[in-house]
Order: sequence, then C-alpha cells, then structure tokens
Amino acid sequence: TAHKRVPFIAGNWKMNLDHLQSIAFVQKLAWSLKDARHDFGSAEVAVFPPFTDLRSVQTLISADKLELAFGAQDLSAHDSGAYTGEISGAFLKALDCQYVIIGHSERRTLHNETDEVVAAKVAAALRHGLVPVICVGETAEDLEKHGASAVPVAQLRAALAGVTGAVDIVVAYEPVWAIGSGQAATPDQAEQVAAKLRETLVEILGDDVAAATRVLYGGSVKAANIASFMREPNVDGALVGGASLDLDEFASISRFH
Ligand code: PGA
Repeated sequence: TAHKRVPFIAGNWKMNLDHLQSIAFVQKLAWSLKDARHDFGSAEVAVFPPFTDLRSVQTLISADKLELAFGAQDLSAHDSGAYTGEISGAFLKALDCQYVIIGHSERRTLHNETDEVVAAKVAAALRHGLVPVICVGETAEDLEKHGASAVPVAQLRAALAGVTGAVDIVVAYEPVWAIGSGQAATPDQAEQVAAKLRETLVEILGDDVAAATRVLYGGSVKAANIASFMREPNVDGALVGGASLDLDEFASISRFH
C-alpha cells in the first residue's frame, strides 16, 4: 500500500519500577537498542512508566537524546480542578509525553472505566495533543458468546464517539484472556480482529487515517512470538506488559526479526 506504518513496540510497565529503577532501566534499554539500531531500524520503541517516573524519564531521554518515546498509563478526562488524585493531559503534555494508554482492561475492570469514560479520556488526550493508545479486547466469555471481534469493534466505536478528522491515534487489540496469562492469541486471531478494527477506522475516520493508524496486538507477547505477529499485514506492533520489564527480552522484542 501507499502508506507505510512505522512499527510500534510499546512497554506497559503497569505498577512496576520506581523513578530510580526507571532511570537505570531506560538507560540500559536505550544502549541496548542503540547497539542494535541497524537490526531493528525503523521500529519506534516507547515505554509507559508510572506517573511518578515520568519526570525522571523525560529528563534522561532529553538530556542524553535517547531514541525512545514515552507516555503515561492513564489520564483524567478533565483538564484541571477538584479531582483529587487525578492527572491532567496538560500535565502529561508539559512533561513531553507523546502517548497515553487509555482503556486498558485493568482500568476497565478494576476501576470501572466504562466506554463513556474511555471516550471522554480519548477526547481529553486529543485536546492536549497526546496520542491515545486506545485498548480494546474481549473477555473469554465474550469470545465464547460473540466471537473475537464484536466486543473490540464496539469498544473502538464507543471510544471514538465524537472524534473526527485527521487524528493521530494508536489502537491496541488486547484480548483480556491473553493478558498476563502466557496464552497469547494466535497471529491469525490477532490479524482477523486487527483487520476488523481497521475496517471500523475506515468507516469512522476515512481511508487515509485508517491506513496511517497503527494497530497493535497485546497479550503475552514475548521475544519468541513477536515475529509471528509482526508478519501479519494489519498488526503494526505490540503492547507488551510483563515482558517489557525484562531488559533483554524487551530489547529483543523491539528487534522482532
Ligand atoms: P502482558 O500484558 O504482556 O503481560 O500479557 C499486556 C498488557 O496488559 O498490556
């Protein structure tokens, strides 16, 4: 196709690594990727540390001009005000965050984030010039009842309510049953849902945005299976949880050949 999407490898640290650990990890990761630059060339690699690490990670990446992107794992739907404990998109933008994960299944399940909340957070991210990494995915029960793509497609539609135009977004297909289970989807399963998600993007945002948008697979991605996902035409990268905390494993996923 005319559109060449830059592969995107994203490490979701979840609630792991404090700011001191994040500095050591990012430094080593950047060096490890730099050594292998000629191998993995075009992939964009990003880390998603806890909020309390972001200032340290920003300072390190900018001071040492490291070829790493970073983002946050969540944001508030609101811009400022009486929302105790919340973090605004404006604050993330001020820290040079480029990305923000929205609607991860752990937030949907453990923090009761509804499709409406996810849509409000996507709108907030776009309002502040952040690229939302919109997570969608079915549970094992959904899979049995409705097949693989119905729930992720419905979640994507809901997340994009009110979004129009040439927006910069990333979509992550993460079957809930594959997250942290060691049981990844097959590349074929991932491709089928990724293709459905891209069709949905065509419908809502048009051909050009759909062709330019990266659709990731997430759920038990590791060095041993990344290449099989990357071979699929509609899978443009991975959202990696557990394996993103292992330096060698994550560096090797970032090379993915
Ligand atoms: P996992 O998590 O790689 O540990 O399965 C993926 C995620 O939750 O984003």
